[in-house]
Amino acid sequence: MTAINNGPTTTQAAVLVEQNTDLVIDEISLPETLDVGQVLVEIKYSGICGSQLGEIDGVKGPDRWLPHLLGHEGSGHVLAIGPGVKHAQPGDTVVLHWRPSRGIESAAPKYKWGDKTVNAGWVTTFNNYAVVSENRLTPIPAETDLKAAALYGCAVTTGFGVIDNRANVRLGDTVVVFGAGGIGLNIVQGAALAGARAIIAIDRFANRLELAKSCGATETIDGSQINPWDRLKEIFADEPLDVFIDNTGAPTVIAEGYKLTSNRGRTVLVGVPKSGNDTAIHTLPLHFGKSITGTTGGEAIPHEDIPRYMALTEARNVDLNDLITEVEPLSGVNDLIAKMRNGKSAGRCLIDFSL
Ligand SMILES: [Zn+2]
Repeated sequence: MTAINNGPTTTQAAVLVEQNTDLVIDEISLPETLDVGQVLVEIKYSGICGSQLGEIDGVKGPDRWLPHLLGHEGSGHVLAIGPGVKHAQPGDTVVLHWRPSRGIESAAPKYKWGDKTVNAGWVTTFNNYAVVSENRLTPIPAETDLKAAALYGCAVTTGFGVIDNRANVRLGDTVVVFGAGGIGLNIVQGAALAGARAIIAIDRFANRLELAKSCGATETIDGSQINPWDRLKEIFADEPLDVFIDNTGAPTVIAEGYKLTSNRGRTVLVGVPKSGNDTAIHTLPLHFGKSITGTTGGEAIPHEDIPRYMALTEARNVDLNDLITEVEPLSGVNDLIAKMRNGKSAGRCLIDFSL
């Protein structure tokens, strides 16, 4: 087999073979050549995001791409570039992200597993070596901490982008963040950086709420202990709630949160409801300044926003490593996924390919 620029010909990968089963970890073969706009990346760290849990669970229905690779936030180094690639060079340190950015959107790569084809999207990160589309990576300074950098592929850019582009948080605003998982914690962090006066984080897991406090939450509510709506109604009896952010996708949370916001309040939906789970709301206030809107990845533009957000966290001494609570080798990926499901992992779970 021909190697790409004398590089690796195979990679360890976690493969989704069948929905609702553990990922299969095995060695698969890389494509023999790089197509137009493709980049070969050695991945150092990959985050695990709720989206991958959704893919495993088949929330969008039957999956015609099985078997396929997974993962959409990571960091690593460029080993080789295909024809036409202008925004990355071999040796570059890069963040891998799922939002499209500068450069070519290449054909999706195909890997071989024995005589079987393994499909992949424009970016995958649960594999040590990955062929990635040019517009799914952003070069960053070589000295960047690669562990924290992985989070800029999804969690940080989505969280900060929600605050920046959708919630439009102003100095002194009051913000409720319902759900303090990987994205929720970064939303709390973003709200604090944006100058919100009160940030109330709600979750059912106490360990996440502890992290929310360190991210800047001014109050936390443990929904497994008390009815969060009783407490929220108390807090906002005499003062306006400017921003309500839902990370659950649950119709009752969306409806109650929307109701709780002020006449000019903004409700932002980050969590995606299961299909058929509709929400009924009283729409009259929408004519007079109240708003409700959804978001896709915080509307982030990776090649602009990743450098901007990285410079911000550095200037404000925000250490994203505090949000990384579990790190395992690729062989531990199924354990990490289990910990995300049962709430044992408070923050982001990371795959470290050097372990
Ligand atoms: Zn994600």
